[in-house]
Amino acid sequence: MRILIYILITVCSSSLFAQQTATSNNANTGKYVLVIHGGAGTLNKSQFTPALEARYKSGLDSALLVGNAILEKGGTALDAVEATVKVLENNPLFNAGKGAVFTSEGVNELDAAIMDGKTLAAGSIAGVRTIKNPITAARAVMEKSEHVLLSGRGAEAFAAVQGIEIVDPSYFYTPERWKGLQRAKQRDSLDQLKKVGQTAYANELDEARRKDKYGTVGAVALDTHGNLAAATSTGGMTNKKWGRIGDAPIIGSGTYANNNTVAISCTGWGEYFLRLVMAKSISDRMEFGGQSLALASETLVMKELPALGGDGGLIAVDKNGNIALPFCTEGMYRGFIKKEKQGAAVVKDILIFK
Ligand code: ASP
Repeated sequence: MRILIYILITVCSSSLFAQQTATSNNANTGKYVLVIHGGAGTLNKSQFTPALEARYKSGLDSALLVGNAILEKGGTALDAVEATVKVLENNPLFNAGKGAVFTSEGVNELDAAIMDGKTLAAGSIAGVRTIKNPITAARAVMEKSEHVLLSGRGAEAFAAVQGIEIVDPSYFYTPERWKGLQRAKQRDSLDQLKKVGQTAYANELDEARRKDKYGTVGAVALDTHGNLAAATSTGGMTNKKWGRIGDAPIIGSGTYANNNTVAISCTGWGEYFLRLVMAKSISDRMEFGGQSLALASETLVMKELPALGGDGGLIAVDKNGNIALPFCTEGMYRGFIKKEKQGAAVVKDILIFK
């Protein structure tokens, strides 16, 4: 009996010690970083008026400020990335939530994912048509279900049970995205040109197609307790067919966070990000190959992605607060806000083109 009591006391006190260690690791450093993107690829500098540029920048700025308010108060990276992405989802300028692009059937099908770098918990939803803020549903999958990825009608039913706001599919209609779908459909039919030998013209159309296709929003953060989180939300690619799902909701491809390495959110031609298992590849090269975030992310985005025929970009913050924002398109809506330590000034930047 004495031995049993001794063992119990030892086990309990060592687990208490483990908890205390975890808590002291989580001391508030005052240092935090938030990085966001609003997609890469739909950009054409010559078509950008100063007024339009200002609208995009102000949309990114509002999102950064919401996340900043959470991090500055010592809130979690997870709360910050969810709240930040929600602001972008509610802004029709970006291809996520309200501004989602149309499928070839003329509906909007949304994908989103969120991941907690501290626990490696993750949640995703794919192909949903009625959830106003897909990122909140993804977080509910992570926290309130035993699953990681829910899709379609099942994901919508789950969200409704969780009390997450459901909207009529018409909520996602915007005239700009509808026009984008009509352009994409025209280009589809012009693909026939290739078959009759007008290759040069058809190649120009391929270029235009790339530019019309991408969007997506995302946020990654390092909080004052040293925890990382990542979130991504998208309408996918204009004119997508047959229930196509891209990289955004696939943990390790478009979205990934791990306190040992990095938090990443991607945007671009999803099929290529899936094939490269983009975000986890970068994390692995850092963790097992000893590479810096800069080297690993530049190699994948600037070399390996275009070498396969894809394009796009990503945002990342590593466990030390280093950030990377590589992209191989003409531009990427992006911004960051950070504070080096308690009492330091907040540094912010918002950029669109190279
Ligand atoms: N990566 C997204 C997808 O393929 C699209 C995007 O980033 O714009 O669904």
